[in-house]
Amino acid sequence: MEKTTQRAPRIDGHTLLAGVIGWPVAHSRSPLMHNFWLRKCAINGAYVPLPVRPGQFETAVRGLQAAGFRGVNVTIPHKESAYRIVDRLDRSAERSGSVNTLVFTDEGRIEGYSTDGDGFVANVEAHGIPVHGGRALLLGAGGAARAIAASLQDRGVSVIVANRTRARAETLAASLAGVTVVDWAHAGAALPECTLLVNTTSIGMEGAADGAFPMDLARADRALVVCDIVYVPRQTALLRQAAACGLRHVDGLGMLIHQAGLGFHKWFGVTPEIGPDVEALLDADLHASRTG
Ligand code: NAP
Repeated sequence: MEKTTQRAPRIDGHTLLAGVIGWPVAHSRSPLMHNFWLRKCAINGAYVPLPVRPGQFETAVRGLQAAGFRGVNVTIPHKESAYRIVDRLDRSAERSGSVNTLVFTDEGRIEGYSTDGDGFVANVEAHGIPVHGGRALLLGAGGAARAIAASLQDRGVSVIVANRTRARAETLAASLAGVTVVDWAHAGAALPECTLLVNTTSIGMEGAADGAFPMDLARADRALVVCDIVYVPRQTALLRQAAACGLRHVDGLGMLIHQAGLGFHKWFGVTPEIGPDVEALLDADLHASRTG
């Protein structure tokens, strides 16, 4: 690992502060990434985990704002509370119906952003796959699906959603004009007309209940790109199947890194370099926690 990861951070009256609010929050990899970038970019800053119980979110946020924090990431179970307390919702947050990044402005306002969808797109494009036009089949209709659907639409991609619970897919479609819904069981029939397949369900995630995808990639067009946003493990069964079929595929770790990079820029004013070093750092950490 580079020397930059080993230097002790300087903490003084000029240190720029940010963090992640969640309950629990100990599992979050955000402190690892942001502190790595802070050192690498030689920014006098620190990013801390902030365990905040349900019901205490607004008190904590107002306190952090008063204490001069630049902002925070927000994770489970506080995303809905974050959506409610902001003074201004960025378009990304409005369209995705959620907030994962708060920025405390110099004027005392709280701005809410969602960086998941744009982080997903940035990661796919970082793999040399332009995201522009075409049609995507999204599996799942949870929080991540809506953010990704919104960002894909913003790039002219037509979005089809299939979810095990069809009503949830219809709720998503009702909030994003132009999204179409197909039955989970028959989602495979939509595949031949798609350029992108994205798994946003927790199928394949370590520790999640088993589940099966309603399609066979062996019959997909050779041009199909398969993405999985699950990142534990990185090589999911879906991605292994895509590889076996000779299809281009993108795993979920890069989305995690790119969405973090967007927040870093908002708080610290610098776009961090998203390269193999931060990926290796996270990979090693995920591996250690799986085997440790
Ligand atoms: P969520 O809101 O809880 O949604 C979960 C989705 O998975 C729902 O569509 C659910 O369908 C579906 N699902 C769960 N088990 C299933 C099964 N056995 N068969 C079929 N569908 C099933 O979760 P989320 O926040 O959107 O996150 C979803 C996944 O994305 C998680 O694995 C999460 O770790 C990952 N994620 C990754 C990133 C990243 O940066 N790479 C970012 C965000 C999320 P129902 O509606 O029918 O229950």
